[in-house]
Amino acid sequence: MSLQIHQFDAVIIGGGGAGLRASLQLAEAGVKVAVLSKVFPTRSHTVAAQGGIAAALGNVSDDKWLWHMYDTIKGSDFLGDQDAIEFMCKNAAKAIIELEHFGMPFDRLASGKIFQRPFGGMTQNFGETPISRTCAVADRTGHAMLHTLYQRNIQANTKFFVEWFALDLIRDADGDVLGVIALEIETGEIHILHAKTTLLATGGAGRIFQASTNAFINTGDGLGMAARAGLPLQDMEFWQFHPTGVLHAGVLITEGVRGEGGYLVNSEGERFMERYAPHAKDLASRDVISRASATEIKCGRGVGKNKDAVYLKLDHLGEELISKRLPGIREIAKTFANVDPIKDPIPVVPTAHYMMGGIPTNLDGQVVLFDEKTGEKTVSGLYAVGECACVSVHGANRLGSNSLLDLVVFGKAAGDKMVQEIAQNKAHKPLPANVADATLARIARLENTQGENAQGENVSEVGAAMRKTMQTHCGVFRFPELLSEGVGAMDAVAKRAQHITIKDKSQVFNTARIEALELDNLIEVAVATMRTAHARQESRGAHAREDFAERDDTHWLKHSLFFKQNNAITYKPVRLTPLTVESFEPKKRVY
Ligand SMILES: Cc1cc2nc3c(=O)[nH]c(=O)nc-3n(C[C@H](O)[C@H](O)[C@H](O)COP(=O)(O)OP(=O)(O)OC[C@H]3O[C@@H](n4cnc5c(N)ncnc54)[C@H](O)[C@@H]3O)c2cc1C
Repeated sequence: MSLQIHQFDAVIIGGGGAGLRASLQLAEAGVKVAVLSKVFPTRSHTVAAQGGIAAALGNVSDDKWLWHMYDTIKGSDFLGDQDAIEFMCKNAAKAIIELEHFGMPFDRLASGKIFQRPFGGMTQNFGETPISRTCAVADRTGHAMLHTLYQRNIQANTKFFVEWFALDLIRDADGDVLGVIALEIETGEIHILHAKTTLLATGGAGRIFQASTNAFINTGDGLGMAARAGLPLQDMEFWQFHPTGVLHAGVLITEGVRGEGGYLVNSEGERFMERYAPHAKDLASRDVISRASATEIKCGRGVGKNKDAVYLKLDHLGEELISKRLPGIREIAKTFANVDPIKDPIPVVPTAHYMMGGIPTNLDGQVVLFDEKTGEKTVSGLYAVGECACVSVHGANRLGSNSLLDLVVFGKAAGDKMVQEIAQNKAHKPLPANVADATLARIARLENTQGENAQGENVSEVGAAMRKTMQTHCGVFRFPELLSEGVGAMDAVAKRAQHITIKDKSQVFNTARIEALELDNLIEVAVATMRTAHARQESRGAHAREDFAERDDTHWLKHSLFFKQNNAITYKPVRLTPLTVESFEPKKRVY
């Protein structure tokens, strides 16, 4: 097969908020930049973000970035790196004003300033009272942000490769990254994008679970690519379960509903969060609320026919507020739960939502390796930003509305650093020989029906087995026997995935091939999650173990690093020293 080679200064894999913020920085600096996206960019999952984007603007009440920083560190259960968190919170206000100047149509207060709403874990004066810190465009904030960034990129002449599927990173013998191998979905042709710098912005991987708020495209492709290239995945045991996914549908009901005054009730009509988080109640952080809902259901106080949900009540907010601030939520409730929230409560359950872990990076978005003796070292030419990256600002639990912020702050920082790196490298480093052999073999495997593959596994069956295994063995609460069994069960699923074949040749359309290739990536993420969850013997943030119920800072105040090659797990210290302010010492986390 002859491969077409395209040369760029920068190649960005992913056209979501993270990728588009970075590409804009590069295009506006006059760099030759390409963005690859497996779907049309404005269909990336960022478009589904509802509730908003956090920044201490202080438009509703007095606010400081230092308070935002404290909340984020506490929310992370002290696993977040304090220098990265300071950087994000300090740059937040600037990032919002910049988005506004790009044309993002934020909701307004009567004063004309940008509207802000309360969100879980966001407080005034180091935990004293909930604060309105989350800027929003009704309940369609991600939609507004993504379209704004896309249009700016069109203006800046970013080159888009739409419906191109990135397969593998190109890494040479020195360990430097020189671009990516990609499949043009329409034609099935394989191309090489040869670049001085490559950025992974491929988003989350929530589709490893059965019940997920994530789009079907969130399959962890960037993590799969990194893992296959020999790079570590950091903190993969930490998955956020959002307390309010619609029962049976998984579709998200934003935390903005509780920000606007909605709350959860059990079958006895009790507002149960008053018991679990007396101070913050329904605005405690997500891990706390998801555990509370799961406990209520387990104790028989669930609602509905099977008593397997709790109710989200918002009828008391009134039709006017719901129509103005939460119009999308009303539509979702009607379509997926068959209730009109103006009159009736919505049945909701904790649902897999966000991956705190990812590809480890520094504050400039450069992918880093860690060695106990020599410390951190960057991987030349490779960057990662957004949900696929772990910088780490979210630690063991992300606060709602901090992800959109993460995308734009670190997207811009990575773009700036790439511009610098490109300026220093006048020429492209030569591509290694047989650059695409392993990738081509991986694709050919799917059509091989000989030998071990004669029985041929089916993509959807193996995918279903993976999702069921994750849901059963690695959920909101984690139990020792289930985790131990889960490791073996996931290994067995991973083995089956090696023998997937697309048997019916008339079905070998590229979408069938894409689904199989996506499953390869999901499996990398699922194995990493199960194994690191099994290894971490404490409860911290979203990782709640029945047998180790407390956080253990003496042994576990550290990030995990998982390597696909022989399933090795190593650890690296949490950076507790911020850039300019005093460190926040770990303490007991209560809401
Ligand atoms: C329903 C929902 C609501 C949310 N609401 C909020 C909120 O209100 N506030 C908040 O802060 N966060 C929210 N989040 C989280 C936040 O939206 C995401 O973490 C964030 O948008 C991820 O952005 P991203 O740019 O990293 O990835 P995405 O937006 O997911 O984009 C990934 C991109 O990578 C491309 N891609 C992936 N794999 C490949 C491949 N192999 N080849 C080529 N292209 C590829 C895709 O085509 C896509 O363009 C929400 C998440 C969900 C699911």
